[in-house]
Amino acid sequence: MKLNPNIADITNYFPGKNIPGAEKLSSNENPLGPSPAALKAARTALENINRYPDGAASELRRALSDYWKIDSSRILPGNGSDELLNLLSAAWMAPGRNAVGTRESFSEYRRAVQTFGGRMKEASLLNGCFNLQAMEDLIDENTSLVFICNPNNPTGTYKNHQDISNFLTRLKDRFPSETVNSDKGGPIVVLDEAYAEFADAEDYPQSRRLLDLFPNLIILRTFSKLYGLAGLRIGYALGSSEIIHGTEKASMPFNTSSPAQAAAITALSDSNHAAAYRELVRREKAFLYEQLTARSIFYYPTQANFICFNPGRPAASVWQYFADGGIVFRDLKSFGLPEMARYTIGRHEHNELFLRLLDGISG
Ligand SMILES: *Cc1c(COP(=O)(O)O)cnc(C)c1O
Repeated sequence: MKLNPNIADITNYFPGKNIPGAEKLSSNENPLGPSPAALKAARTALENINRYPDGAASELRRALSDYWKIDSSRILPGNGSDELLNLLSAAWMAPGRNAVGTRESFSEYRRAVQTFGGRMKEASLLNGCFNLQAMEDLIDENTSLVFICNPNNPTGTYKNHQDISNFLTRLKDRFPSETVNSDKGGPIVVLDEAYAEFADAEDYPQSRRLLDLFPNLIILRTFSKLYGLAGLRIGYALGSSEIIHGTEKASMPFNTSSPAQAAAITALSDSNHAAAYRELVRREKAFLYEQLTARSIFYYPTQANFICFNPGRPAASVWQYFADGGIVFRDLKSFGLPEMARYTIGRHEHNELFLRLLDGISG
């Protein structure tokens, strides 16, 4: 028996490494840990794990419905937003269809699309940010999904409200069908906002408003980053009930666990914990900007909880030196940016250690 040809060429996901004794700042995780209240909710939920979870995640949907002021039928929780990428691809991809994305971006889009028999067409970054015009040019009548990672992983760069809104308007003009689920329906635009909660630019998209204007738009959010629940695997999609309902058909019945649901509900309401992390990122980002600029080290201004910088020599060649010194970052060879590195903004003492190590190579 031969391996399914759709997946034969896929390279396995290469995760940020964990080195004992070093601070892992390679996967954009919350360095403050999860909300203590969310942790308590997860522990309580563990008492009942002899029972299957609520397959519809009704309470989580209700909490998200209140949070976003959106009907529950327009929310789909998933086993991390990674699972939602799989579900979207399973539901809307097929041989002969394609998806459009960006080469120097999150690799899971490509993997999900190819797994379900679709072809991935990728534009390149332009000035460090995804190129909406080039992406638009790649879209054809067989394109069923378009992936926009905003802010972009790994560069932290973003497109503003007007840019995203214009892109969606042009697509709507080009594919005027009222329904996505038809031969004439245009592509679904997946706006992956895994890092949106860290964005501080005034013109960062108000995507909730766009949802009501563009029925082909899907927004992905996750509890893995701001909320510090990466290990529990929980995220969600927001969109039109038509797309949510169609996508849900691809889902397994109990895709999110009961501890994950309970922790997510509580994390959403623990605004103090989230605010403390946002404040850490705001403060430490300013500190890193200042320190990197003083050292003439190139970096992309970021809207996320990480910073993409150029260590002055191929990042993979200095990775071990940093790891030995106590800091693990991510080299971006697998993202197609071999000169660059992605550093998750950490606690102040780790950012200082990071800068000292940086001085050790450029000195
Ligand atoms: C981390 C990340 C996610 C979140 O993945 P989960 O499966 O929810 O943990 C999604 N998209 C991007 C671009 C990410 O960097």
